[in-house]
Amino acid sequence: MPAPLSATPVIVWFRNDLRLADNPALHAAASLGAPILPLYVLEEVPGDPRPLGGASRWWLRGSLERLGAACAALGAPLILRRGDPAAILPALIGESGAGAVFWNRRYAPAQTARDAAIKEALKRDGVEARSFNANLLAEPWTVQNKSGGPFKVFTPFWRSLSATLAPPLPLPVPALLPAQRLIAPATPPASDPLESWGLAPTAPDWAGGLRAAWSPGEAAARDALAAFLDGPVARYPTERDRPDQDGTARLSPHLAFGEIGPRQIWHAARHTADAHPDRQTGVESFLREIGWREFNHHLLHHAPHLADQPLDERFAAFPWRDDPAGLAAWTRGRTGYPIVDAGMRQLWETGWMHNRVRMIAASFLVKDLLLPWQTGERWFWDTLVDADLANNAGGWQWTAGCGADAAPFFRIFNPVLQGEKFDPEGDYVRRFVPELRRLPPRWIHKPWDAPPEILRQAGVRLGESYPRPIIDHALARNRALSLFAEQKGRT
Ligand code: FAD
Repeated sequence: MPAPLSATPVIVWFRNDLRLADNPALHAAASLGAPILPLYVLEEVPGDPRPLGGASRWWLRGSLERLGAACAALGAPLILRRGDPAAILPALIGESGAGAVFWNRRYAPAQTARDAAIKEALKRDGVEARSFNANLLAEPWTVQNKSGGPFKVFTPFWRSLSATLAPPLPLPVPALLPAQRLIAPATPPASDPLESWGLAPTAPDWAGGLRAAWSPGEAAARDALAAFLDGPVARYPTERDRPDQDGTARLSPHLAFGEIGPRQIWHAARHTADAHPDRQTGVESFLREIGWREFNHHLLHHAPHLADQPLDERFAAFPWRDDPAGLAAWTRGRTGYPIVDAGMRQLWETGWMHNRVRMIAASFLVKDLLLPWQTGERWFWDTLVDADLANNAGGWQWTAGCGADAAPFFRIFNPVLQGEKFDPEGDYVRRFVPELRRLPPRWIHKPWDAPPEILRQAGVRLGESYPRPIIDHALARNRALSLFAEQKGRT
């Protein structure tokens, strides 16, 4: 007779939910009273369309280190394995006698397909497989428009969702009974040493700026949220667009790795608004951005090609250019447009870029250089610590003008005006483009217009210490608009 479930171990398969609090899979496993086997698999699956990018691998290392320590303190050491979960799970079940595997759902198309196949296979083998929602306020299939279909426009999506939203209270970190800490069989399953995965770069070690800027892990996520709600949230509606201010929560990598969940954010933010009426407007505005994250996941679920193909089919045949020199200048932050270059260097140095500057830099690649948005999406994927398929593809398609509810293609960001409006003193540019730091605010966003004497005093030698613009924005804008008009004419 098979042993009752509470005596057989349950594998809790961690993925992008690297936290102990508000973790429904862990909570459900713990409530069974069964021994818990926490597992993380570094997925190496042939043909994986989206292996982790370099910056994400760096983040993952830090996050697993913290999660490993937290699991050990709980009495259930984290098991690390690398390879294909479809093979690793049955192997671990064989080694440990586990009778169930619990996990929290993820939403990228290749992952959902993989998870569905794994669930099927486990069930066929008589192993209980249960999945939960840890990562969204509302899973994509639970939100429908009046005709029962998916939303394609953000405002009605958020109006509908936020009107009915009552997310359950976040779950506490479970406490394990002494019996749950006993791993069966007596010898604990083998675990890879984290260092053996080579997640952190060594030759060269390009992660110094990431280390200086970030602290991965659940505790740091909690602290970042608390610090933001403690004050900056009140100024969020006005400062969220200012890259020269610390006006946003900087929660995106924590959310991407699931070190904090949206339910925790929602409840903490609501609590803040209740306790401090002066922060109410800021909280609403902040939660609306959390709503964009929900919307992008909704889109990705209903349009699984979001990451590769334009949602607006008119763009499928757009005559993008091939411009390796332009692409290299963009990735290195040497376009000659200071706000674009500051953003691209912030990304390279810290693994993150301010949202306003993401839009400006993306618009420059797509509309000024006429390079395909997918090329930019891939660069961001590799360099962002918060790389997230839904948000990244959604953000790129929105900026390129080919996404759902997108900024129209003909709205082309002017990098000088955007810089002057959102970085009025030039402090952001000064921080990431130090060769321009002595230019006065009047010229910092358009050094090519500065009188020679001003450039000389600031030590700027255009074309030497800092590039001249690689393209004239006004000409580029006209070129993009006429191509777009031609394209529209053909459809
Ligand atoms: P806050 O302003 O404090 O917002 C809080 C949270 O709300 C964020 O952490 C994020 O989860 C969500 N959020 C905020 N703005 C957006 C938005 N515009 N779209 C979707 N969610 C949002 N975000 C990612 O998480 N991963 C990506 O890979 C990503 N790629 C992007 C690419 C482009 C071209 C653009 C224009 C935007 C992209 N974004 C991405 C969205 C946004 O830039 C970041 O979420 C935001 O800058 C994160 O900083 P924060 O945590 O301080 O944000």
